[in-house]
Amino acid sequence: MLWLIQLLFPLALLLWLAFLPARHMPTRIFQSFGIAAILLGLHLAGLWITPPWWTPWIYWGLFAIAVSRVWRMQTRPDFAAVDYALILFWAGLSGFGGWVSMQALDARTPPPGEIVDLAAPLVAGRYYVTNGGSREIVSSHLRTLPRATIGQRNYWGQSYGVDITAMNRWGLMASEPTMVLAPCAGRVVRAHSGEADGGPVDLTSPTARAGNYALIRCGHFDILLAHFRKGSLPVAPGDLVRQGQPIGALGNSGASDMPHLHIHAQRPGTAAAPFSGKPVPMRIDGRYLVRGDML
Ligand SMILES: [Zn+2]
Repeated sequence: MLWLIQLLFPLALLLWLAFLPARHMPTRIFQSFGIAAILLGLHLAGLWITPPWWTPWIYWGLFAIAVSRVWRMQTRPDFAAVDYALILFWAGLSGFGGWVSMQALDARTPPPGEIVDLAAPLVAGRYYVTNGGSREIVSSHLRTLPRATIGQRNYWGQSYGVDITAMNRWGLMASEPTMVLAPCAGRVVRAHSGEADGGPVDLTSPTARAGNYALIRCGHFDILLAHFRKGSLPVAPGDLVRQGQPIGALGNSGASDMPHLHIHAQRPGTAAAPFSGKPVPMRIDGRYLVRGDML
C-alpha cells in the first residue's frame, strides 16, 4: 500500500505530465499545480523509510524537468470539453494535496498545556521519526486520544508518543543493534522482558502492545520506552537510572511492524492500566518531533 501511494502514484503523475501534458495552457497550469500539491502532501505526511527520505527530492527533480519540458511544448488555443473535466480533476488534486500539507504543517505545533523536556533516548546515530506530531495524519498514536473504547482508555497515555527507527547511511532501515538510553533520571516503576520480536500480542491486555518495555518515573511524569529486543533489558522495577544510562536495545516486540523505539510521556496511570494516564507532549533535545524529522 505504501509503495502504491508513495512510489507508483507520484511516478504515474510525473509521467503523465512529461508525456501527456494538457494541450490547453490553462489546463496545463492546473495539471502542474495539482501534481506539485500531491508531491508536497506526500513529502510532508509520507512515511519515508522504505522508500527512503530522499525519494521526494527525486520527485521534485523529475517535476522540474517535466515542467521545463512541457512549458516549451506547443499548446492549443481552443478550450475543449475535456478541459473542463481535466481542470476539475487537477483542481481536486490540488485541494487534496494542499489539505494534507496543511495538516502536516499544523502537526508541528504541540498541543497546548504542559510539555516534558527529555534527552535523546538513543545513542548517537541516524534516526527517522516514523510517527509523531499533533495530527493523526502524521502520528497514528493520536488514535487513542478520544478514549471512546476500553483499548483507547488503556493506552491513552501514548497519544502524544513518538516512534523512532534507525537508518543506515542510505536512509534505509538499519539492522545493527542500537542501544536505548534513559532520557531522564528517575526510577523504573515497571519493566517487562521476554517477548520475542514479532511474537503474538494479546491486544486486549493493557500493556502487551508495548512488548518489552521500561516505564520510568521522572518527577511527575512516567516515560515509557517500548518494543525492546528480547532479553536486552538490564533494569528492573525499583532501579534508579541516571540520564543517558543504557536501558535496552531497539527491537520489534509487541505491537510493532518494524524495529523501532516508542517513547511517550504521561501522568502516572493506574496499577491495572499503567499506560492510561493523561498524555503529555514531549520535546526531545529541545525539539517537538513530527513524522519525517531526523535525528
Ligand atoms: Zn509508538
